[in-house]
Amino acid sequence: MQKSLRFFLSAMLLASAFETGLATAQERPIVLKAATILDGKGEAFRNTIIVVEGGKIVRIGGTVPAGAITYDLAALTITPGWIDTHSHLWWHFDKGRLAGKEEPPTQAMLHAVDNAVLTLNAGFTTIQSPGSPEDKELRDAIARGIVPAPRILTSFEPLTEQSGPPERLRELVRMRKQEGADFIKLFASKSIRDGGAQTMTDDQLRAACGEARSLGLRTIVHAHSAESAMAATLAGCTTIEHGAYVTDEVFELMAERGIYYDPNIGLVLQNYLENKEKFLGIGNYNEQGFAFMEKGKAIVLETFKRALKHKNLKIIYGTDAVAGAHGRNFEEFIVRVRDGGQDPMAALVSATSLSAESLGLKDKLGAIAPGLEADIVGMEGNPLEDVTAVRRVVFVMKGGKVFENLAAGSKTQAGR
Ligand SMILES: [Zn+2]
Repeated sequence: MQKSLRFFLSAMLLASAFETGLATAQERPIVLKAATILDGKGEAFRNTIIVVEGGKIVRIGGTVPAGAITYDLAALTITPGWIDTHSHLWWHFDKGRLAGKEEPPTQAMLHAVDNAVLTLNAGFTTIQSPGSPEDKELRDAIARGIVPAPRILTSFEPLTEQSGPPERLRELVRMRKQEGADFIKLFASKSIRDGGAQTMTDDQLRAACGEARSLGLRTIVHAHSAESAMAATLAGCTTIEHGAYVTDEVFELMAERGIYYDPNIGLVLQNYLENKEKFLGIGNYNEQGFAFMEKGKAIVLETFKRALKHKNLKIIYGTDAVAGAHGRNFEEFIVRVRDGGQDPMAALVSATSLSAESLGLKDKLGAIAPGLEADIVGMEGNPLEDVTAVRRVVFVMKGGKVFENLAAGSKTQAGR
């Protein structure tokens, strides 16, 4: 009796000490020692510290607070967590083929989690998923803070020309809002494999984008042809996705009206071609479609180069990652800079603060600045000098929590 009571008491003490320890660890400030910080807004800071408390960036510079947990990241280049505004987490391969609807939902969910984990480890702390009804559970599980994955914004099921006449589209937009969608995804044109012609009518676009706007929801629009991008721009939609055939006239109008452009030139087509045998024979993934995608690489690159000439055009960072592409979202950056000729600092701003702005989150994340979420990544090498540095992300913090730290010997425990 005596003995078991003593055991019980010491177990209690141990448990409470453990809890106290945990609570203290959570409240202790975190300090990141950095030699090079690219803040995501076009500025660089040298040889300083970032202080993180309660999941937020408190300050850059100053003295190390007492009791801080310090990570020495001086060997790395520090940037904000990256944002992919267009990623399809549910797409994956199963037994060497694109998985389809017949797959058990639990298996599909675990594959989506795999993709999400890969994406976070690649340095992407926020992604936008344009359209999967299954996103809700995953988004909400990640938001609970346990699954090591990027935060997700989702539209659930996208709307198309077949969703109904304008009144029905307005109703569907209201329904999505009620279901908890973060934005609305629309298909205003055919796929690039089918020529990309406009599908939704101008009236349909006006109804959907107008209703969404009145509810405070953003609209992102799949549009390849110039006329579909023009129609979406005139309808007051938020973002044009892909835009393979957008003309200078439409780019100029988009720039004037502050419509974001989300080209995807560096990962999606390359990934399809690299994994051709895993897609071929499914839906419109036929030989003709693949021949088109081969040519498409040059077309979208050319369009991107033209887009860059429109100085006020807000070009954001989406990859359109599908099966096989998750965890390689950084390849888009390499192609934009190396092949597209974009200034690397501008490409980084695109993938961080500008994309955050396009998501309506510029006051919450996308830069290394006081008051923002502590979404911070570290990579080996400087992407302004060597674009391939983005492939070597070894430190990932999201919301002040370290999810990956492969930087050798980086963690010290000052103040213990
Ligand atoms: Zn897509």
